Amino acid sequence: YAEHTGPSAGAPAGAPGTVAIPSGPCVPYYAAQAGECALFEHCFTQQLPLLIKGPTGCGKTRFVEHMAARLARPLITVSCHDDLSAADLVGRHLIGHGNTVWADGPLTRAVREGAILYLDEVVEARKDTTVVLHPLADDRRVLPIERTGELIAAPREFMLVISYNPGYQNLLKGLKPSTRQRFTALTLDYPEPAVERAILEREGRATPEIAARLVQLAQALRRLTDHDLEETASTRLLVMAARLVASGLPLREACRAAVVDALSDDHDTLRALDEVVRAVV
Ligand code: ADP
Repeated sequence: YAEHTGPSAGAPAGAPGTVAIPSGPCVPYYAAQAGECALFEHCFTQQLPLLIKGPTGCGKTRFVEHMAARLARPLITVSCHDDLSAADLVGRHLIGHGNTVWADGPLTRAVREGAILYLDEVVEARKDTTVVLHPLADDRRVLPIERTGELIAAPREFMLVISYNPGYQNLLKGLKPSTRQRFTALTLDYPEPAVERAILEREGRATPEIAARLVQLAQALRRLTDHDLEETASTRLLVMAARLVASGLPLREACRAAVVDALSDDHDTLRALDEVVRAVV
């Protein structure tokens, strides 16, 4: 898992409505789509956990990084996978030099430190793993650690954020209703064209013309591939294409490498995507 420490991590968060909002170079750039920043702040001050839904590469992780820095809280990120156990989150006894020592997992550390814990792609984790979140995600806000007998009360600065991509490959997995109902929910999608162009200029160092062409391409691909591909052209892939162009690669080649070949292995699909590239850029 990854840990990020905000610009003034450890500083107490303010009372509701008085959250200090630092900005500047320490706060990762995030172009808001609508009212999601305000919603996040309200969840933080009201001590409500948040579920963010949205396709891969639409900015979910960046959004959480941005908000953690704005709220001056440390951020602990866990990328979930199907092997992730409750002990991976909570902690375990480690054996060394003849004795056993307890080692906190990322969830326990986040609760102790009053950090924001972000579980990325939470549907990948086994359902019995996500059950350990339940007592933290409702109004009890406690973490019972069975192995040590400890019961930790979460400080008010602790926040639980989970995300998943509700694409069709996840329909069957889903989240347990009992997990899901504990979270406030926010849906993000690919940004509006003007916002996405601004992201490409800033993150991908694209000129306004290149940014406009890439966003046009994304729009065409998103229309075309809705039903044919598991994933479509994300903002992340566009940023990668823009970077290749900024580094000197011709636009079409950049689109082929960063977008077309990244999206499919199927020969016919690749040909169809390539035709769109040639028609648009
Ligand atoms: P997700 O977590 O949804 O898969 P990320 O947050 O990792 O997506 O976004 C991928 C990349 O796309 C980021 O590293 C960033 O460069 C860019 N990006 C996407 N959306 C935004 C946004 N709204 N503001 C700034 N950058 C963004």
